[in-house]
Amino acid sequence: MQNERRPVLSVEEAQEQILATVRVLEPERVPILEALERVLAEEVVADRNIPPLPNSAMDGYAVRAADVAQVPARLRVIAEAPAGRLCPTEVEPGTAIRIMTGAPIPPGADTVVPFEHTRIAVAQDESCAIVEVLRETRPGANVRQAGEDVRAGQVVLSPGCVLRPQEIGMLAALGRTEVAVIRRPRVAIMATGDEVVPPWETPGPGQIRDANSYTVAAQVRRYGGIPLLLGVARDEEALVREGVRRALAERADLIVTSGGVSIGDFDLVKQVLAAEGEMRFWSLNMKPGRPLAFGVVGGVPLVGLPGNPVSAMVATELFVRPALRKMQGFTEWPWPERRARLADPITRKDGRRHYLRVRLRETPEGWEASLTGDQGSGILYSLVLADGLAIIPEDVDHLPAGSEVRVLLLREYGMQSTEYAIPNPQRT
Ligand code: AMP
Ligand code: MG
Repeated sequence: MQNERRPVLSVEEAQEQILATVRVLEPERVPILEALERVLAEEVVADRNIPPLPNSAMDGYAVRAADVAQVPARLRVIAEAPAGRLCPTEVEPGTAIRIMTGAPIPPGADTVVPFEHTRIAVAQDESCAIVEVLRETRPGANVRQAGEDVRAGQVVLSPGCVLRPQEIGMLAALGRTEVAVIRRPRVAIMATGDEVVPPWETPGPGQIRDANSYTVAAQVRRYGGIPLLLGVARDEEALVREGVRRALAERADLIVTSGGVSIGDFDLVKQVLAAEGEMRFWSLNMKPGRPLAFGVVGGVPLVGLPGNPVSAMVATELFVRPALRKMQGFTEWPWPERRARLADPITRKDGRRHYLRVRLRETPEGWEASLTGDQGSGILYSLVLADGLAIIPEDVDHLPAGSEVRVLLLREYGMQSTEYAIPNPQRT
């Protein structure tokens, strides 16, 4: 195939075009623990007050404030109020009720004196103890009011909020066992290449195992998607076309292919998809990962990654991750990053943005970034050794050792596990 001119795009231009194409997916209802780190798709309103009744904030004695205005004060202990039930006994003048944290305040009482501020004065037997209050207690002290956490009818969570552990706990407190969140995207992943075999096969002469499908599937999981592995298609138009059809049949929300997008004899993804959809091919002004295909097939966005394993992973970070986040309803997806000083000088004179694999080390002068060896696009081990990707801007030819660079951290832990041991523990 003859050489062609592809538009040269910056990383940001390509990201913008991809984000302008992908849409936020629909909501689904999930058990609340599966909603962690996901985007809420409904308004959550409190159906009742929390706490439901005035209750004690301390272990101590429920009293009438007037009885403890002067200290020391002696009170007769007439009952006990444990948590979890209403106390039927009234606190009459001159009496007190032993009360536990969380127990409803008994009728007549308005104040709780903590045990620490009392001593037992007379206790012949448990039914007629006399307690002495030793410290002044402000009226209403240690009483939690009904609805002081949330009030019935209050909007507690709004759509778009990203659910953290505290929001999951709040949902439980409000009696919600399920909640509507934006669903996870299904991402069909297909490798291409006559030389590429599945990991469980022994490669023949000139063959290699498929690393890309697994790197990309792991990234998809890390960023909240559901990977659907379609395997490896040989470099034949019919086979790649077949893979795309399977992806559509599997209701993929996004298709990610690797390989077959470089300008060369096997410009495969292009041949296949020119007929089936609208496909754009870009030369990105970056390294690794210069060629990238992007388009829409059967209504589903497709990202065609380059085949080199480093390029494939870096391009997935830069272009698939934002798409996945947007589809899940996120409105921002900042990369975790750190500033570090280069351990070695770097010279890159091609005017491209470089993402260099670096290892980070903390020194007394701050973080130091050193290259993880050979930076070739095929050296997957350079990523295995890396803590992050140091960004060398397009307009920089040379950086002396000690220069400060931005490093995208490759250590973001997303939420992929949906398993937990006991889904609905009973009260025992
Ligand atoms: P391509 O983009 O198809 O020209 O492939 C570029 C380089 O990446 C070649 O050396 C391929 O052998 C290699 N490659 C392609 N696909 C994979 C894959 N799934 N896993 C590992 N390496 C691959
Ligand atoms: Mg190939």
